[in-house]
Amino acid sequence: MIQKIDHIGIAVNNLEASTQYFENALGLSCHGTEEVASQGVKTAFFEAGEVHIELLEPTSSDSPISKFLEKNGEGIHHIAFGTDDIEKQLSKASDAGIRLIHQTPIPGAAEKLVAFLHPKSTHGVLTEFCMPTKKA
Ligand code: ZN
Repeated sequence: MIQKIDHIGIAVNNLEASTQYFENALGLSCHGTEEVASQGVKTAFFEAGEVHIELLEPTSSDSPISKFLEKNGEGIHHIAFGTDDIEKQLSKASDAGIRLIHQTPIPGAAEKLVAFLHPKSTHGVLTEFCMPTKKA
């Protein structure tokens, strides 16, 4: 079951410059940065109530984030729904005829399993499911 919007992913050119905006102009504090080599990104997380903001800076030119920035410039990249059963969520979407980017979950940032749905199937919003690998 989907439990909440876990985070909103924002593609940025420069993690440091955008961190300054979130810290100085919004007063949010960064509670972690991480490089996810498999995705070719560096991430920084901010907490806004129950929802997190995930900044994504590409670390290589063939990163999906590089391609997104080339096409669209900086901006909202994806919305992530937190779920308690990511496998079930994926098969539910698949049964509904939604195109999956990942047939099975992959390791993401912040010790979570993640999987994406294709934006062509989701009314233009790249959609992520995420689930903690450890029970909180
Ligand atoms: Zn995400």
